[in-house]
Amino acid sequence: MFVLAHRDPSTAHLLSLRDSKCFAQDDKSFLTSCANLPAMAEGISSLSTSKKHFLSDKVSQFTESVIRDMTRQAMLYGAVNLAQGFPDFAAPAEIKQAARAAIDGDVNQYAITWGAKNLRNAIARQMGLWQEMAVDPEKEITVCCGSTEAMISTLLAVCNAGDEVVIFEPFYENYGPDSVLSGARPRFVKLRPPMSEGGEWTFDEKELRAAFDKHTKAIILNTPNNPTGKVFTRAELELIRDLCIEFDVLAITDEIYEHILYDGTEHISMASLEGMQDRTVTINGMSKTYSVTGWRVGWAVGPEKITNAIRKVHDFLTVGAPAPLQEAGAAALSLPAEYYAKLAERYRVRRDHLMPALEAAGFRCFRPRGAYYVMTDISAFGFANDVEFTKYLVKDVGVAAVPGSSFYRDARDGARQVRFAFCKKLETLDAAAEKLEKLRARK
Ligand code: PLP
Repeated sequence: MFVLAHRDPSTAHLLSLRDSKCFAQDDKSFLTSCANLPAMAEGISSLSTSKKHFLSDKVSQFTESVIRDMTRQAMLYGAVNLAQGFPDFAAPAEIKQAARAAIDGDVNQYAITWGAKNLRNAIARQMGLWQEMAVDPEKEITVCCGSTEAMISTLLAVCNAGDEVVIFEPFYENYGPDSVLSGARPRFVKLRPPMSEGGEWTFDEKELRAAFDKHTKAIILNTPNNPTGKVFTRAELELIRDLCIEFDVLAITDEIYEHILYDGTEHISMASLEGMQDRTVTINGMSKTYSVTGWRVGWAVGPEKITNAIRKVHDFLTVGAPAPLQEAGAAALSLPAEYYAKLAERYRVRRDHLMPALEAAGFRCFRPRGAYYVMTDISAFGFANDVEFTKYLVKDVGVAAVPGSSFYRDARDGARQVRFAFCKKLETLDAAAEKLEKLRARK
């Protein structure tokens, strides 16, 4: 007897089943295991008293989100939650007011399935302003239930079984299950941590090129990046652009942290590079920029033909995103430029508040240039791995963080890393810092 998908983060994140055995994600055969579906099905059905096992083969290849499980653990142990990336402070008053006004004004029925006109117009206007891109709001935008739905709708719209999708790792954990659900095979390319203080996460050009071949359908690119905080430079984006053109590949870019930038870094949309607008789907949303992760409003912007396909998938998955919150989205996108400057500056203050506390407690921090997470190295504490460490941290120290392994295909690659989110009030970061003092003794 074996289990299908462990809830315990100490077990591997992605699982495959073969010959009645459970293979962890570090089994190199994971990516080819889909060829073994008949054997998997046989193995799974032996679990059940029913002749049919009722579960899809796809769903048995991944676990629940480790990040969101850490939030539940934080609640269980009363720990300070620096695991999941949601702000614990108020959303801007103007956009809450706009949401109330929309509800009072009876914008309470389905919006146009691919998005309220006001919001689509605002998205197109701002992409023109921020990235100098001409976007047709009637033909090139699909508003979804968060960028999460925009990503899975896009992958479902473009991938066939056997297509490959290139993903940099460590990666935002949704991309693994998203690939499985869309039938695509992920090809991971390593981002390597900075070697020295103040350095950047880098990738090897040859390794990236080797991941592209005739089966490559798309590359998923997340910049500014979760979990590393890397902001891809123009030179790096041009290199990726050239490969996309050479191998006829689509870029699917998750730009949800576009306004959260530090140290003079610049966000460049892949679609704004020459030759890329007709082979890029740009994904974004309200969650992070406007501190409304619970509203579930995001969007995918792409060429008309791909947008039509995304709209079909989106329509049958969810029909539409919340109508009054889309109107509030249009108001949010009309906030003045100072709003974005303040947003980034406030996050810089929080980053610079948390990092010294982590360093004093014994973590080695990889300085993020964007987004609101800091990846750390936990070697100094002498734990067997990241999962053992985060268990101790949440239960005995009282701080929840995310084990690094949840961002890698092979758990061993993240065994020395842990991610902290700093999208929190300064008081929350102070409360965490106080608890982290307990760790000093273990150094
Ligand atoms: N993409 C990245 C890189 C994220 O870090 C997150 C949330 O943490 C999301 C997407 C989810 O965004 P949304 O709330 O728009 O679904």
